[in-house]
Amino acid sequence: MKKLIRFSVMAIVVATMCIACKGKSNNTEEIPVTEQAGNSDKPISVTGNELQIESNDQMQYSTNELKAHSGLIQLTLTHTGKMDKSVMGHNLVILKPGTDIAAFTQKAVLAKDTDYIPGSEKERIVAHTKLIGGGESDTIEFTISEPGTYEYICSFPGHAALMKGKLIVE
Ligand code: ZN
Repeated sequence: MKKLIRFSVMAIVVATMCIACKGKSNNTEEIPVTEQAGNSDKPISVTGNELQIESNDQMQYSTNELKAHSGLIQLTLTHTGKMDKSVMGHNLVILKPGTDIAAFTQKAVLAKDTDYIPGSEKERIVAHTKLIGGGESDTIEFTISEPGTYEYICSFPGHAALMKGKLIVE
């Protein structure tokens, strides 16, 4: 019997609360909205991983340091010059940590048929753009799940001495 009484008391309380709610519609909005806004800021930070880098006819990248968060990364390489890719071609090759860059570029010089991406070194490469000439650009997407420092170079013959940098993944 006690339970039944309690139940009916609760029912009355709930019923009167609902009536009260209808009267003040402001009350129902305030509480949940502020909580949601606070929470949604933290986990949804996947964006901001779009990297932009330029290259030119002076055999230069616009930056020698790129930063990203681990996960899916989008990178756009633009060639702001006018020269053809056969004389001033650029790409951007991201290499795994510990890669011997001098040895890599020596093999790249011989890989003209594959736009200076040596097939024998594929497992050293995290990602690479295609080879582009003046006025062109290329966008690639790749995933790096291990934070660390990844060196990048242009593998066109003779360019890596000047065209190199570090991609820092946090
Ligand atoms: Zn280049």
